[in-house]
Amino acid sequence: MKKPRVPHRTKSPRVVQELSRLASGLAASGSRIEDAFWENRLAAKINAQLRTGDDQNLEAALDQLYDSNAVGYGEFIYAIEAAIECSTLMREGVGHDVLMFAAPVLTWSRFSIPSGLISEPVLANLREQLQAHVLAKEVQFVLADCLFSPDQLPRGYHLTHELASKLWTATMAGERDLHMNPRQLAETGRFLSDTRYLLGAIAVQQGKPMFRWQEAERAGMDKSTDANSPGVKFSKQEILLAWQTHGTEALRPLFQGCAFELLIPDGFFSAWRMADRLARPYSTHATIDFLQSTLNVSANRLRAVVAPFYDQWLEEYRISFMLKDRDEVLYGIVWALVGDEDENSDTVTQIETTLRECGITHTTVLDNRFLLEYCEECGAPLFPNPEGEVVHAEFPDEGEVAPVHLH
Ligand SMILES: [Zn+2]
Repeated sequence: MKKPRVPHRTKSPRVVQELSRLASGLAASGSRIEDAFWENRLAAKINAQLRTGDDQNLEAALDQLYDSNAVGYGEFIYAIEAAIECSTLMREGVGHDVLMFAAPVLTWSRFSIPSGLISEPVLANLREQLQAHVLAKEVQFVLADCLFSPDQLPRGYHLTHELASKLWTATMAGERDLHMNPRQLAETGRFLSDTRYLLGAIAVQQGKPMFRWQEAERAGMDKSTDANSPGVKFSKQEILLAWQTHGTEALRPLFQGCAFELLIPDGFFSAWRMADRLARPYSTHATIDFLQSTLNVSANRLRAVVAPFYDQWLEEYRISFMLKDRDEVLYGIVWALVGDEDENSDTVTQIETTLRECGITHTTVLDNRFLLEYCEECGAPLFPNPEGEVVHAEFPDEGEVAPVHLH
């Protein structure tokens, strides 16, 4: 996963070496008990770094491991994410597990996609639905009163940890909401299709379940009204469906004029990665719906061109759309690599399958190595045309025959 970078300041080679040594030790560990040895030491070091308010040593150690130890790199990312999103805190002598969670929403609209503050009644309804359908019975939890766009999520490790800490503190204090200052939120980019996040934190007595799928069973609820009947257990899939049904109703007032789909709420990083992964086929479907309705053509009159784009390594595929009998690129979308995907992953097949599901019957895959290029004027990515050149997508104005440059 690509990490946002903070500006470079002084770094400590000694700390970087030590982080790298601990992560490599964990990667080479031969038993669970040895894992715990390395994990505890690594977590303590990472926490000390998060408290310094600077990501630079963590970034430098990541770079070092990326070049020298792929397994250690994976373990280190996992350890950093764990230190950021979860912890154990004491209250009145009792240990509590706390976790920052995210509930992602995939959405698209020809108009605008909402972000920012959530009104009190909508937030209260969301709380109720999360409690009833997603979270374990005895959790305490808090929700941030904001619908975050990807631009509004905290940038970098220590800022993410700072937000997690605020959420943990609020939930441990028995608060229900964490108020966000809208003036501190970044501006949201405007896209046809995008992701939104609800963020919150859960606190439970140490070792208790946080999510409903962790519960062994829950007596007399939902599947049966008889309190004496045997308990029922819900699978993650059933919980997702219940959240989609009830959470969608709760969110509908915010998403006027938008299509939207709720994903399963989960630990912050896991939910984020899941959303990044699923946003790609979702935005492909959204784009083709949009093109069909705006151009008034069916999907089988459209053609797609797919090509790989490189920086130092393969970063993303860009997909262009055009009318079948024309070469002008009307619209383009980016299919970014997520998590540990690289050029050995079967991304092209996934893209082709998604396009076929959308009714596109004519897809050309180019194997040129394109460099990541953007329009100098507006910053939009450039897209491949059928001749293997990168060009600016030019969408026709409604009612016009000739395509226009969009700026
Ligand atoms: Zn441009």
